[in-house]
Amino acid sequence: MQPYGDNFILVIPVDFLLHEPDRPFCYDMTCGCKRNERLLWEVSRYIEEGSMTLGEGQAFVAGRTI
Ligand SMILES: [Zn+2]
Repeated sequence: MQPYGDNFILVIPVDFLLHEPDRPFCYDMTCGCKRNERLLWEVSRYIEEGSMTLGEGQAFVAGRTI
């Protein structure tokens, strides 16, 4: 039996995998989620409320896990 992997071409439906309710931003800086005003507004609210620092908010939008 061949192990999986060598000839496996990874085709990921990006929108499906990378945008989750608790992680709405992916790491593709050209993706539309970076310009989603409602999501950006929510992040700015977290920062204003103090539940995120500005750096954390920027990392969140950039798709990096906090
Ligand atoms: Zn995205």
